[in-house]
Amino acid sequence: MAITRRGVLAGAAAAGGLPLTQYNLCMPALAGDDDVILGPPVKDQPIRKLSEHVYMVEAPDGFPTPENQGLMSNIVFIVGKEGVVVIDSGASLQIARMSIRQLQTVTKAPVVGVFNTHYHGDHWLGNHGFVEAYGASIPIYAMAGTRTAIEGGTGTSWRDAMLKWTNQASSGTRIIPPGKDIDHGFTLSLGGATLRIHHYGTAHTPFDVAIEVPEDQVMCVGDIMMDRRIANMEDGSYQGTLDAIDALIRNSKTAAWVPGHGDAGAKVLDWQRSLFQGIYEACTKAVKQGVPLEGALAVAMKDPRVADKAAETKGWASNIGKYVSIAYLEAEQAQF
Ligand SMILES: [Zn+2]
Repeated sequence: MAITRRGVLAGAAAAGGLPLTQYNLCMPALAGDDDVILGPPVKDQPIRKLSEHVYMVEAPDGFPTPENQGLMSNIVFIVGKEGVVVIDSGASLQIARMSIRQLQTVTKAPVVGVFNTHYHGDHWLGNHGFVEAYGASIPIYAMAGTRTAIEGGTGTSWRDAMLKWTNQASSGTRIIPPGKDIDHGFTLSLGGATLRIHHYGTAHTPFDVAIEVPEDQVMCVGDIMMDRRIANMEDGSYQGTLDAIDALIRNSKTAAWVPGHGDAGAKVLDWQRSLFQGIYEACTKAVKQGVPLEGALAVAMKDPRVADKAAETKGWASNIGKYVSIAYLEAEQAQF
């Protein structure tokens, strides 16, 4: 479950902007973090109201760079009468601080809970910022498997990779693993807004949760769905994702899907489902016809559901080959 060499190399290739010394000028060390030089603040990214209780700070980019300082995944706030909950806390202390500044422009109510949808670092490294602002006792919810991954090598791999990808802009970020285990069926009421947890097995990772706000007919899906982004499927399952999407439709009255990457709305569903159906069905066909792994990408790109998305998807060229290979291996295993 650690970051793979391929992933680290892809991110490292994107790095190489400002030298560390430019960030360091006039940056005070964080109190209590001896010898740690704090990366600079992250530029404000406006908060947007998606529905009565749901707000989002949307990340414009799909991948971490020194320029975006790791701002690559959305930070979502559910605002109820009894407080605010954040779903995915961003990729650094600095990003979390920025999102809290944005939240405070719409409500002065405190954040009373943090949810981490899965163990990829862009969704939980910002936990530090929420603990800093709201206290160490703030509950951080995730599946037990997400917690143990973050407590183990996956946590440090992600923190170190983010430092490298952002050329140290995330420096000062501490690993704060979730402390409250949740599973399918868990609910939390915020007064007027309820959070209902869905989990249907391995999708993007083995431990994804989707978080429904039934009053708003909104489903926050983490990375089970994305909008014009291609998901890192190294720990995931194409068939599992398609099954999870079906279960989310069946078991909710969702009108708007809020992904971890890209814009929210009704359209996210078709976009994600058709891309994965296209890739996985093409790979299944390739396996059945005896097309070798190297030929799978060409078969997939003949499918209009895949080909149509190339131009509008961030990171397509550098990732599609790798993720089609993963789909091919999954399809091959499913044949036996
Ligand atoms: Zn992810």
